[in-house]
Amino acid sequence: MSDDRISQVIRAEVRELSAYHVPDSHGYVKLDAMENPHSLPDEIRQQWLNHLHQAELNRYPDACAGGLKSRLREVFNMDSGVELLIGNGSDEIIQIIQMATARQRKVLAPEPTFVMYEMIARFVGTQFVGVPLDQDFQLDRQAILTAIDQHQPAVIFLAYPNNPTGNLFDRNVVIDVIRAAPGLVVIDEAYQAFANDSLMDQLESSQNLLIMGTLSKLGLAGLRLGYAVAAPQWIQQFEKIRLPYNINVLTQLSVEFVLSHMEILNSQASLIKSERQRVFSRLIELGYMCYPSACNFILFRSDQDADRIHQNLLDRNILIKNLSHAHPTLRNCLRVTIGSAEENDAFLNAMTQI
Ligand SMILES: *Cc1c(COP(=O)(O)O)cnc(C)c1O
Repeated sequence: MSDDRISQVIRAEVRELSAYHVPDSHGYVKLDAMENPHSLPDEIRQQWLNHLHQAELNRYPDACAGGLKSRLREVFNMDSGVELLIGNGSDEIIQIIQMATARQRKVLAPEPTFVMYEMIARFVGTQFVGVPLDQDFQLDRQAILTAIDQHQPAVIFLAYPNNPTGNLFDRNVVIDVIRAAPGLVVIDEAYQAFANDSLMDQLESSQNLLIMGTLSKLGLAGLRLGYAVAAPQWIQQFEKIRLPYNINVLTQLSVEFVLSHMEILNSQASLIKSERQRVFSRLIELGYMCYPSACNFILFRSDQDADRIHQNLLDRNILIKNLSHAHPTLRNCLRVTIGSAEENDAFLNAMTQI
Protein backbone atom coordinates (compact mmCIF):
# COMPACT_ATOMS: atom_id res chain seq x y z
CA MET A 1 0.00 0.00 0.00
CA SER A 2 1.22 3.53 -0.64
CA ASP A 3 2.69 5.49 2.27
CA ASP A 4 0.59 8.31 1.00
CA ARG A 5 -2.65 6.61 1.80
CA ILE A 6 -1.46 5.72 5.30
CA SER A 7 -0.39 9.29 5.96
CA GLN A 8 -3.72 10.65 4.78
CA VAL A 9 -5.61 8.39 7.15
CA ILE A 10 -3.35 7.98 10.19
CA ARG A 11 -2.41 11.00 12.35
CA ALA A 12 1.25 12.04 12.35
CA GLU A 13 1.56 11.49 16.15
CA VAL A 14 0.55 7.87 15.67
CA ARG A 15 2.80 7.26 12.65
CA GLU A 16 5.77 8.54 14.63
CA LEU A 17 5.21 6.19 17.58
CA SER A 18 6.74 2.75 17.91
CA ALA A 19 4.43 0.10 19.31
CA TYR A 20 4.99 -1.04 22.91
CA HIS A 21 7.39 -3.94 22.50
CA VAL A 22 6.87 -7.21 24.38
CA PRO A 23 9.79 -9.64 23.85
CA ASP A 24 9.14 -13.33 23.23
CA SER A 25 9.72 -14.97 26.61
CA HIS A 26 8.98 -18.58 25.70
CA GLY A 27 11.48 -20.92 27.40
CA TYR A 28 13.06 -18.15 29.50
CA VAL A 29 13.22 -17.56 33.24
CA LYS A 30 10.95 -14.55 32.95
CA LEU A 31 12.11 -11.70 35.17
CA ASP A 32 11.28 -8.73 32.97
CA ALA A 33 7.65 -7.80 33.59
CA MET A 34 7.07 -7.50 37.36
CA GLU A 35 4.78 -10.51 37.51
CA ASN A 36 4.18 -12.37 40.75
CA PRO A 37 5.92 -15.75 40.27
CA HIS A 38 3.56 -17.63 42.59
CA SER A 39 0.30 -19.25 41.56
CA LEU A 40 -2.69 -20.00 43.80
CA PRO A 41 -2.59 -23.16 45.94
CA ASP A 42 -4.22 -26.14 44.15
CA GLU A 43 -7.19 -26.29 46.49
CA ILE A 44 -7.98 -22.60 45.98
CA ARG A 45 -7.57 -22.98 42.21
CA GLN A 46 -10.21 -25.69 42.29
CA GLN A 47 -12.58 -23.44 44.26
CA TRP A 48 -11.95 -20.66 41.74
CA LEU A 49 -12.86 -22.95 38.83
CA ASN A 50 -16.05 -23.96 40.64
CA HIS A 51 -16.85 -20.29 41.20
CA LEU A 52 -16.53 -19.66 37.45
CA HIS A 53 -19.34 -22.14 36.76
CA GLN A 54 -21.85 -19.35 37.31
CA ALA A 55 -20.40 -17.24 34.45
CA GLU A 56 -23.00 -16.59 31.76
CA LEU A 57 -20.90 -16.33 28.63
CA ASN A 58 -23.92 -15.49 26.46
CA ARG A 59 -24.72 -12.37 28.53
CA TYR A 60 -22.89 -9.07 28.69
CA PRO A 61 -21.01 -8.64 31.95
CA ASP A 62 -22.40 -6.51 34.79
CA ALA A 63 -21.75 -3.05 33.31
CA CYS A 64 -21.02 -1.37 36.65
CA ALA A 65 -19.31 -4.43 38.17
CA GLY A 66 -21.14 -3.87 41.45
CA GLY A 67 -19.98 -7.01 43.23
CA LEU A 68 -16.39 -6.51 42.24
CA LYS A 69 -16.40 -2.86 43.28
CA SER A 70 -17.76 -3.50 46.74
CA ARG A 71 -15.11 -6.18 47.25
CA LEU A 72 -12.40 -3.73 46.17
CA ARG A 73 -13.73 -1.10 48.58
CA GLU A 74 -13.66 -3.58 51.44
CA VAL A 75 -10.23 -5.04 50.76
CA PHE A 76 -8.46 -1.73 50.15
CA ASN A 77 -10.33 0.18 52.90
CA MET A 78 -11.77 2.85 50.65
CA ASP A 79 -13.62 5.69 52.28
CA SER A 80 -17.35 5.87 51.48
CA GLY A 81 -16.92 9.46 50.26
CA VAL A 82 -14.75 8.50 47.29
CA GLU A 83 -15.91 7.01 44.01
CA LEU A 84 -14.34 4.10 42.16
CA LEU A 85 -13.55 3.63 38.43
CA ILE A 86 -12.43 0.28 37.05
CA GLY A 87 -10.29 -0.33 34.00
CA ASN A 88 -8.95 -3.15 31.87
CA GLY A 89 -5.63 -2.77 33.67
CA SER A 90 -4.56 0.61 35.00
CA ASP A 91 -3.20 1.28 31.50
CA GLU A 92 -6.79 1.73 30.42
CA ILE A 93 -7.40 4.17 33.26
CA ILE A 94 -4.41 6.25 32.17
CA GLN A 95 -5.93 6.26 28.69
CA ILE A 96 -9.41 7.22 29.94
CA ILE A 97 -7.99 10.12 31.95
CA GLN A 98 -6.00 11.42 29.00
CA MET A 99 -8.88 11.05 26.52
CA ALA A 100 -10.94 13.25 28.83
CA THR A 101 -8.18 15.86 29.33
CA ALA A 102 -8.76 19.35 27.94
CA ARG A 103 -7.28 19.87 24.45
CA GLN A 104 -4.41 22.38 24.34
CA ARG A 105 -3.54 21.63 27.98
CA LYS A 106 -0.46 19.61 28.91
CA VAL A 107 0.34 16.43 30.79
CA LEU A 108 3.38 16.41 33.08
CA ALA A 109 5.41 13.64 34.73
CA PRO A 110 8.92 13.20 36.07
CA GLU A 111 11.37 11.22 33.97
CA PRO A 112 12.39 8.47 33.80
CA THR A 113 9.03 7.00 34.75
CA PHE A 114 6.37 4.60 33.49
CA VAL A 115 6.38 4.92 29.68
CA MET A 116 2.62 4.75 29.16
CA TYR A 117 2.01 8.27 30.52
CA GLU A 118 3.96 9.78 27.63
CA MET A 119 2.98 7.22 25.03
CA ILE A 120 -0.75 7.78 25.63
CA ALA A 121 -0.27 11.57 25.72
CA ARG A 122 1.32 11.30 22.30
CA PHE A 123 -1.37 9.19 20.71
CA VAL A 124 -4.22 11.27 22.08
CA GLY A 125 -2.37 14.36 20.82
CA THR A 126 -1.59 16.05 24.16
CA GLN A 127 1.72 17.77 24.78
CA PHE A 128 3.84 15.89 27.33
CA VAL A 129 6.26 17.67 29.65
CA GLY A 130 8.96 15.52 31.30
CA VAL A 131 10.79 16.89 34.34
CA PRO A 132 14.10 15.11 35.08
CA LEU A 133 14.47 13.40 38.46
CA ASP A 134 17.59 14.20 40.47
CA GLN A 135 20.67 11.94 40.70
CA ASP A 136 19.06 9.68 43.30
CA PHE A 137 15.90 9.46 41.18
CA GLN A 138 14.06 11.69 43.65
CA LEU A 139 11.72 14.49 42.59
CA ASP A 140 13.68 17.70 42.05
CA ARG A 141 11.37 19.91 44.12
CA GLN A 142 12.41 23.21 42.59
CA ALA A 143 12.41 21.90 39.02
CA ILE A 144 8.98 20.34 39.23
CA LEU A 145 7.37 23.32 40.98
CA THR A 146 8.85 25.64 38.34
CA ALA A 147 7.59 23.39 35.53
CA ILE A 148 4.11 23.31 37.06
CA ASP A 149 4.10 27.10 37.27
CA GLN A 150 5.31 27.47 33.70
CA HIS A 151 3.22 24.80 31.93
CA GLN A 152 0.05 24.76 34.08
CA PRO A 153 -0.47 21.05 33.30
CA ALA A 154 -4.02 19.69 33.29
CA VAL A 155 -2.78 16.36 34.67
CA ILE A 156 0.37 15.34 36.57
CA PHE A 157 1.28 11.65 36.83
CA LEU A 158 3.45 10.41 39.72
CA ALA A 159 4.16 6.71 40.16
CA TYR A 160 4.52 6.10 43.91
CA PRO A 161 6.79 4.10 44.04
CA ASN A 162 8.26 4.85 40.64
CA ASN A 163 8.89 2.42 37.78
CA PRO A 164 11.60 1.82 36.50
CA THR A 165 13.63 3.33 39.36
CA GLY A 166 11.86 1.42 42.16
CA ASN A 167 11.97 4.15 44.82
CA LEU A 168 9.30 6.06 46.71
CA PHE A 169 9.54 9.82 46.16
CA ASP A 170 9.86 12.01 49.24
CA ARG A 171 6.29 12.16 50.53
CA ASN A 172 6.54 15.84 51.48
CA VAL A 173 7.56 16.83 47.96
CA VAL A 174 4.67 14.81 46.53
CA ILE A 175 2.30 16.73 48.81
CA ASP A 176 3.87 20.03 47.69
CA VAL A 177 3.19 18.98 44.08
CA ILE A 178 -0.45 18.18 44.89
CA ARG A 179 -0.84 21.61 46.53
CA ALA A 180 0.82 23.46 43.64
CA ALA A 181 -0.99 21.61 40.82
CA PRO A 182 -3.60 23.67 38.96
CA GLY A 183 -5.35 20.51 37.70
CA LEU A 184 -5.56 16.83 38.59
CA VAL A 185 -2.72 14.83 40.20
CA VAL A 186 -2.74 11.10 39.50
CA ILE A 187 -0.78 9.00 41.99
CA ASP A 188 -0.09 5.58 40.47
CA GLU A 189 0.29 3.04 43.28
CA ALA A 190 0.80 -0.04 41.09
CA TYR A 191 3.42 -1.37 43.57
CA GLN A 192 1.63 -0.47 46.81
CA ALA A 193 1.75 -4.08 48.07
CA PHE A 194 5.54 -3.92 48.19
CA ALA A 195 5.90 -0.35 49.42
CA ASN A 196 4.61 0.11 53.01
CA ASP A 197 3.25 3.53 52.09
CA SER A 198 0.28 5.02 50.29
CA LEU A 199 -1.16 8.48 49.68
CA MET A 200 -4.71 7.18 50.06
CA ASP A 201 -4.91 9.14 53.33
CA GLN A 202 -4.56 12.41 51.37
CA LEU A 203 -7.72 11.84 49.30
CA GLU A 204 -10.06 13.47 51.76
CA SER A 205 -8.06 16.68 52.12
CA SER A 206 -6.99 16.98 48.44
CA GLN A 207 -9.87 17.40 46.02
CA ASN A 208 -7.51 17.37 43.02
CA LEU A 209 -6.08 13.93 43.79
CA LEU A 210 -6.79 10.60 42.11
CA ILE A 211 -5.17 7.35 43.26
CA MET A 212 -4.71 4.44 40.86
CA GLY A 213 -4.09 0.82 41.76
CA THR A 214 -3.84 -2.48 39.90
CA LEU A 215 -3.98 -6.17 40.69
CA SER A 216 -1.36 -6.97 38.05
CA LYS A 217 1.75 -6.78 40.22
CA LEU A 218 -0.03 -8.47 43.11
CA GLY A 219 -0.55 -11.72 41.21
CA LEU A 220 -3.42 -11.26 38.73
CA ALA A 221 -1.63 -9.83 35.67
CA GLY A 222 -3.54 -12.18 33.39
CA LEU A 223 -6.94 -10.85 34.42
CA ARG A 224 -6.28 -7.16 33.64
CA LEU A 225 -7.88 -5.17 36.42
CA GLY A 226 -6.96 -1.65 37.46
CA TYR A 227 -8.91 0.92 39.46
CA ALA A 228 -8.94 4.59 40.35
CA VAL A 229 -10.39 6.34 43.39
CA ALA A 230 -11.17 10.04 43.61
CA ALA A 231 -13.91 12.52 44.46
CA PRO A 232 -17.18 11.57 42.67
CA GLN A 233 -17.05 14.72 40.49
CA TRP A 234 -13.91 13.41 38.74
CA ILE A 235 -15.06 9.81 38.40
CA GLN A 236 -18.43 10.87 36.92
CA GLN A 237 -16.61 12.54 34.03
CA PHE A 238 -14.25 9.61 33.40
CA GLU A 239 -17.17 7.17 33.52
CA LYS A 240 -18.45 8.74 30.29
CA ILE A 241 -15.31 7.63 28.46
CA ARG A 242 -15.10 4.13 29.93
CA LEU A 243 -16.59 1.67 27.44
CA PRO A 244 -19.67 0.01 28.97
CA TYR A 245 -18.41 -3.57 29.27
CA ASN A 246 -14.68 -3.03 29.70
CA ILE A 247 -14.31 -5.68 32.43
CA ASN A 248 -15.32 -9.11 31.16
CA VAL A 249 -17.33 -11.60 33.17
CA LEU A 250 -14.41 -13.97 33.83
CA THR A 251 -12.30 -11.14 35.24
CA GLN A 252 -15.16 -9.87 37.40
CA LEU A 253 -15.86 -13.27 38.90
CA SER A 254 -12.20 -14.22 39.28
CA VAL A 255 -11.11 -11.00 40.96
CA GLU A 256 -14.08 -11.11 43.31
CA PHE A 257 -13.10 -14.64 44.22
CA VAL A 258 -9.38 -14.02 44.69
CA LEU A 259 -9.98 -10.89 46.76
CA SER A 260 -11.87 -13.03 49.25
CA HIS A 261 -8.52 -14.80 49.77
CA MET A 262 -6.43 -11.67 50.16
CA GLU A 263 -4.28 -13.37 52.81
CA ILE A 264 -2.76 -15.53 50.04
CA LEU A 265 -1.76 -12.55 47.92
CA ASN A 266 -0.44 -10.74 50.99
CA SER A 267 1.75 -13.64 52.04
CA GLN A 268 3.08 -13.96 48.48
CA ALA A 269 3.94 -10.25 48.59
CA SER A 270 5.84 -10.81 51.86
CA LEU A 271 7.81 -13.64 50.28
CA ILE A 272 8.69 -11.39 47.37
CA LYS A 273 9.84 -8.65 49.75
CA SER A 274 12.18 -10.99 51.60
CA GLU A 275 13.57 -12.32 48.32
CA ARG A 276 14.07 -8.71 47.22
CA GLN A 277 16.37 -8.20 50.20
CA ARG A 278 18.34 -11.32 49.33
CA VAL A 279 18.77 -10.41 45.64
CA PHE A 280 19.68 -6.83 46.58
CA SER A 281 22.45 -7.92 48.99
CA ARG A 282 23.91 -10.39 46.54
CA LEU A 283 24.00 -7.88 43.67
CA ILE A 284 25.85 -5.46 45.96
CA GLU A 285 28.35 -8.23 46.84
CA LEU A 286 28.89 -8.76 43.13
CA GLY A 287 29.84 -5.10 42.83
CA TYR A 288 26.73 -3.64 41.25
CA MET A 289 25.20 -0.39 42.33
CA CYS A 290 21.61 -1.11 43.43
CA TYR A 291 18.92 1.51 43.87
CA PRO A 292 16.67 1.15 46.94
CA SER A 293 13.44 -0.60 45.97
CA ALA A 294 9.90 -0.36 47.32
CA CYS A 295 8.72 -2.54 44.41
CA ASN A 296 8.90 -6.16 43.26
CA PHE A 297 11.93 -5.37 41.12
CA ILE A 298 15.42 -3.93 41.53
CA LEU A 299 17.11 -1.37 39.31
CA PHE A 300 20.87 -1.84 39.25
CA ARG A 301 23.77 -0.27 37.42
CA SER A 302 26.87 -1.87 36.06
CA ASP A 303 30.16 -0.08 35.47
CA GLN A 304 30.60 -2.22 32.38
CA ASP A 305 28.44 -2.64 29.36
CA ALA A 306 24.83 -3.45 30.35
CA ASP A 307 24.07 -4.68 26.82
CA ARG A 308 26.68 -7.38 27.24
CA ILE A 309 25.31 -8.47 30.63
CA HIS A 310 21.81 -8.55 29.20
CA GLN A 311 22.95 -10.68 26.26
CA ASN A 312 24.92 -13.02 28.55
CA LEU A 313 21.78 -13.55 30.61
CA LEU A 314 19.72 -14.20 27.48
CA ASP A 315 22.31 -16.80 26.43
CA ARG A 316 21.60 -18.50 29.77
CA ASN A 317 17.81 -18.29 29.15
CA ILE A 318 17.22 -15.51 31.65
CA LEU A 319 15.14 -12.54 30.60
CA ILE A 320 15.42 -9.22 32.47
CA LYS A 321 14.92 -5.65 31.22
CA ASN A 322 17.74 -3.66 29.69
CA LEU A 323 17.08 0.03 30.36
CA SER A 324 20.45 1.26 29.19
CA HIS A 325 18.99 3.01 26.15
CA ALA A 326 15.65 4.02 27.69
CA HIS A 327 16.84 7.36 29.12
CA PRO A 328 20.25 9.10 29.43
CA THR A 329 20.21 8.78 33.25
CA LEU A 330 19.67 5.01 32.96
CA ARG A 331 22.90 4.35 31.10
CA ASN A 332 24.11 0.80 31.94
CA CYS A 333 21.04 0.16 34.08
CA LEU A 334 19.14 -3.12 34.17
CA ARG A 335 15.92 -4.01 35.94
CA VAL A 336 15.27 -7.45 37.39
CA THR A 337 11.87 -8.57 38.64
CA ILE A 338 11.92 -10.56 41.88
CA GLY A 339 10.85 -14.10 41.05
CA SER A 340 10.52 -17.31 43.04
CA ALA A 341 13.54 -18.38 45.14
CA GLU A 342 14.57 -20.81 42.35
CA GLU A 343 14.27 -18.17 39.63
CA ASN A 344 16.25 -15.68 41.70
CA ASP A 345 18.92 -18.33 42.28
CA ALA A 346 19.12 -18.96 38.55
CA PHE A 347 19.55 -15.23 37.96
CA LEU A 348 22.13 -14.77 40.74
CA ASN A 349 24.13 -17.82 39.64
CA ALA A 350 24.25 -16.49 36.12
CA MET A 351 25.31 -13.06 37.39
CA THR A 352 28.08 -14.70 39.44
CA GLN A 353 29.40 -16.49 36.34
CA ILE A 354 29.20 -13.33 34.27
C1 LIG B 1 2.84 -2.11 35.48
C2 LIG B 1 2.44 -0.72 35.74
C3 LIG B 1 1.16 -0.26 35.40
C4 LIG B 1 0.23 -1.06 34.53
O1 LIG B 1 -0.56 -1.88 35.21
P1 LIG B 1 -1.75 -2.69 34.52
O2 LIG B 1 -2.79 -2.60 35.57
O3 LIG B 1 -1.22 -4.06 34.31
O4 LIG B 1 -2.16 -2.00 33.24
C5 LIG B 1 0.79 1.03 35.76
N1 LIG B 1 1.67 1.84 36.37
C6 LIG B 1 2.91 1.46 36.67
C7 LIG B 1 3.83 2.42 37.35
C8 LIG B 1 3.34 0.18 36.35
O5 LIG B 1 4.61 -0.18 36.59
